[in-house]
Amino acid sequence: MSLVVYNTLTREKETFETLEPGKVRMYVCGPTVYDEAHVGHAMSSIVFDFIRRYLAYKGYEVRHVMNFTDVDDKIISRANKTGEDPAVIASRYTEKYKAQLEQLNVLRPAVFPRVSQTIPEIIQMVAGLLEEDHAYVTPSGDVYFRVRSDPDYGKLSRRRLDDAVSGTRVTGSEEKKDEGDFALWKTAKPGEPSWDSPWGKGRPGWHIECSAMNLLHLGDQIDIHGGGNDLVFPHHENEIAQTESFTGKSFARYWLHNGMLQLKGEKMSKSLGNLVTIDDFLAQHGPDVLRLVIAGSGYRKPLAFNDDVVADGERALERLRGALRPATGSTTSGPVIDALAAQAAQARTDFEAAMDDDFNTAGGLAALFDFVRAINTARDAGVGGQPFGDAQAIFNALIGVLGLNLATPEAGGQSIAPFVELLLTIRQDLRKAKQWALSDKIRDELKALGVVVEDSAQGSSWRLG
Ligand SMILES: [Zn+2]
Repeated sequence: MSLVVYNTLTREKETFETLEPGKVRMYVCGPTVYDEAHVGHAMSSIVFDFIRRYLAYKGYEVRHVMNFTDVDDKIISRANKTGEDPAVIASRYTEKYKAQLEQLNVLRPAVFPRVSQTIPEIIQMVAGLLEEDHAYVTPSGDVYFRVRSDPDYGKLSRRRLDDAVSGTRVTGSEEKKDEGDFALWKTAKPGEPSWDSPWGKGRPGWHIECSAMNLLHLGDQIDIHGGGNDLVFPHHENEIAQTESFTGKSFARYWLHNGMLQLKGEKMSKSLGNLVTIDDFLAQHGPDVLRLVIAGSGYRKPLAFNDDVVADGERALERLRGALRPATGSTTSGPVIDALAAQAAQARTDFEAAMDDDFNTAGGLAALFDFVRAINTARDAGVGGQPFGDAQAIFNALIGVLGLNLATPEAGGQSIAPFVELLLTIRQDLRKAKQWALSDKIRDELKALGVVVEDSAQGSSWRLG
């Protein structure tokens, strides 16, 4: 069966055909690195990891690129608050996110480009856009993209220019020729990170980085461009405008967007303060549970994240683990063997049919649960040896597409959570009784064991340090 994917550009499911047979060029927008990453960030990385793994399962060679935005207003404002160098902050959270992706079992992209390492290519692209009159320089040295120079502007978000204009008014500058125009290059203010350019010292606007990184690492046309659906406008709309105006070719064939992870009905975000950090989640539940929570929801839908769905994820993990328990009998022929082989083939067919339908991981999981039941029934009927091993091998191949390893966590994973919580409760009582020395001792001893305790007005929290 052939794969169909939902393309935001056409608002339709389309048959997946790559620019080059057997090869996929996939770019996914990564995080702005200025603070702890939360499970909403992890959701996007995991969704595109499902996609990448399934494409590889189907035989494609996937070149996956994911960027880090390491030059940005948020990083600068954080640096101004803490007194650190913005580059130090960005590098710390970049390295941390890379380590978290590994913990989450996300396959490593071919390249992790960063804005600070792509400046010459960005400058070259801005210069090219200026040359063709798609951009202009303002008296203060900013460079803006001229949206009205692109007749297709708005094709991804389906906004007409006049609507787009009202959506961006808040960031309006006196020097813009049109409200919809957006910055390609910003003149540096004192104390901000800056680079020399033909327009004076400055730094890139946000959108141009992804256009330049695509061009540098994947070429002027790509197969899949991905990201969260909060990026459709203005980020991806502007990326298309810049790239297509620069190259004269159509940019990405398929625009894939994941839904937002929501906590209590709102998008999880730093500014709303409704966060579950990746560290906290991993310490308490491990990577498989997060993958199962995400796989159980459609990737394009918003994911309502709460204790119940996490508990469902834990239960799903236990069920799946059942399939890996060893055989206890040794029957290798007869009707029970034929039944198991048929059910294994059916599970594979159902799994592929679901995944071929726009990466329907929830349907894929349903096929896996049926398969677990079949394996358990076969085990109970005394099936063993090669036939049982063959069924488990197929099961392992399929859970691999979802990046699950089903390993039982070691101490240091979820099993320490109740004990740490207990210690923190006792410590809270000690603090109320002003027993500071004992309370500090618990914090310090935990730290020596790799558990970092943080106190705030709301109480204490902990993470693996
Ligand atoms: Zn981007």
